[in-house]
Amino acid sequence: MESADAVIVGGGVMGCALAYQLVKRKVDVVLLEREELGSQSTGKCAGGVRQQFSMEANVRLQRLSVSMFEDFERETGHPADFRQIGYLFVLTRPQDVEDFRHNMEMWHRVGLTEARWVDAEEASRMVPVLNVDDVLGCTFCPTDGIASPADVTSGYASVARRLGARLREGVDVLGIDVAAGKVQGVRTSRGDIATRLVFNCAGAWSSSIGRMAGLEIPVLPYRRHIVATGTFAAVPRTNPMTVDFQSSLYFHPEGDGVLIGMSDRAEPPGYVTDVNWDFLEKMFEQAAVRAPALAGAGVKTAWAGLYETTPDHQAILGPVPEVEGFWCAAGFSGHGFMQAPAAALLLSQLLLDNRSDVDISPFAFTRFARGSLVRERNVI
Ligand SMILES: Cc1cc2nc3c(=O)[nH]c(=O)nc-3n(C[C@H](O)[C@H](O)[C@H](O)COP(=O)(O)OP(=O)(O)OC[C@H]3O[C@@H](n4cnc5c(N)ncnc54)[C@H](O)[C@@H]3O)c2cc1C
Repeated sequence: MESADAVIVGGGVMGCALAYQLVKRKVDVVLLEREELGSQSTGKCAGGVRQQFSMEANVRLQRLSVSMFEDFERETGHPADFRQIGYLFVLTRPQDVEDFRHNMEMWHRVGLTEARWVDAEEASRMVPVLNVDDVLGCTFCPTDGIASPADVTSGYASVARRLGARLREGVDVLGIDVAAGKVQGVRTSRGDIATRLVFNCAGAWSSSIGRMAGLEIPVLPYRRHIVATGTFAAVPRTNPMTVDFQSSLYFHPEGDGVLIGMSDRAEPPGYVTDVNWDFLEKMFEQAAVRAPALAGAGVKTAWAGLYETTPDHQAILGPVPEVEGFWCAAGFSGHGFMQAPAAALLLSQLLLDNRSDVDISPFAFTRFARGSLVRERNVI
């Protein structure tokens, strides 16, 4: 029977980044992806990379990730197309301004000193299409930005392969063998693999991988939409990623056009990823309020993908103590592209060095049993 030191289930950005970090440290890795690498949530993602979170642990993680995006090409030899155009959070409710004041203090305390307040007048200079009539204030971080999910995933995958990792597509993981509370192997549509270590990197499907090992991994799938427009000069390529925090509407330059997204916060969880055109109408209604010119932008294409959401909107990183050898890198709650580089590095350190450069204990699975959940509030 084939064997491996570690089997990674799922070949999105997370699985590929982890395969790279592990094989770089001489771990013999097999990665199994039932579709194609990067074809699921990773392939539907808006590419946003930011450090402006409400939870300190997320800010620390993201500061590391941003430095890894900056260094990606030197490290892997592949481009990430990381463009630090900044993220502008637009605030229109007094409570949000109050919350972000606390966030700003925390950001500066942990070293994100380049984040700053921007008033309505400056915001309208930065983002000329923005309607600032009701804007109470904004936060801006110039080192945030956007990168290419396809480039980052294929970059990690190709270096991992070159270093000897076995990355397989079209292989469905069907079961995980556990005996005496320890992982023994993985059953797949193309034969079994003996291993003592499984990483659950299955994104929106992570709960089903958990059930294979008798575990409840609390990750639910939520549909999220994106529209890409044709050429739209009113949003130049230097326009920051702009987030209308109250409605969750966001937009950023994409090629010569604009990429626009918004969350349907009323939609229950589910795996459907058809485009709901009625919801897109609502999205454009909100665009007409926040950035009226956008309402006139022609839709070139639209798609929907899945967020992989935990009860506190924070990732699950590290071992699951109930089953020895079962680790999670899942539940990123819509931030997995930006978090994958740092998450992969830190998990490889925790596994091999029993420590990590940034403390990832706030993301431990055990928090659910303790009931000590503190929600990440900057989710869009
Ligand atoms: C519309 C939208 C916009 C987003 N925007 C952003 C953004 O701006 N910034 C950001 O950071 N994040 C964003 N996200 C979230 C981001 O896309 C995800 O958090 C990230 O891609 C998760 O990566 P992953 O590798 O964990 O999951 P995935 O990319 O979903 O990979 C998991 C893989 O596991 C495979 N798999 C599942 N079950 C099995 C099995 N049994 N056997 C084998 N393989 C299996 C799946 O086929 C899949 O390819 C967005 C998501 C959506 C939908």
